[in-house]
Amino acid sequence: MPQLLLIEDDPGIRTALVRALSERGHGVRTAATGMAGLQEAVDGRPDLVVLDLGLPDMDGCTLLAMLRAVSEVPVIVATARDDERETVRALDAGADDYVVKPFAADHLDARIRAVLRRGGSTESAVLEVGGLRLDGGSREVTLDGLPIDLTRKEFDLLAHLASKAGTVVSKRELLAEVWHQPYGGGDKTVDVHLSWLRRKLGESAAEPRYVVSVRGVGVKLVDPAS
Ligand code: CA
Repeated sequence: MPQLLLIEDDPGIRTALVRALSERGHGVRTAATGMAGLQEAVDGRPDLVVLDLGLPDMDGCTLLAMLRAVSEVPVIVATARDDERETVRALDAGADDYVVKPFAADHLDARIRAVLRRGGSTESAVLEVGGLRLDGGSREVTLDGLPIDLTRKEFDLLAHLASKAGTVVSKRELLAEVWHQPYGGGDKTVDVHLSWLRRKLGESAAEPRYVVSVRGVGVKLVDPAS
């Protein structure tokens, strides 16, 4: 059973989340202040920390930085609505993901499971789709045995698609998982990176081999031979 540490000063939210997350199969310990949370994160060695950024005794980002200095534990931050700058600061300080308050317990649970999965497997795993081979540890990619030079974001994008090979992934999910950005309707970030990625794989949107767009839904990585 994954052991979570919830650092949250609001007793109502704390009680509700402990109940909801326990019901969903997690062990949950809590701390009501930043200092107590830091102590518990170090002593209790949880599998994941859920951190409220608005704490009475210290700024959540400061706590995150202190925690990062001593621990690699995955952290999901809970931020107030519309506080985008704070969210970006937290991600820069080493948060793995974030949820915006108020959030449903199911939503938080899904994020927790995704972060735990990511930490456990795909980070250093080797993924193979057809002639494409990604090494998560060395971050090297080869196509039919030949190395491909990808930027950091192109690698992350390809790795996310490869971890879900054969399944359609929405652009919204890619923005959230690869860029940690909420969805913006006019945002062409994903499209631009997909087109760069395709070029490096020697294909185009018009004649795809590995990276196949599904109109109105998203994109999937496939083995062209199958
Ligand atoms: Ca708070």
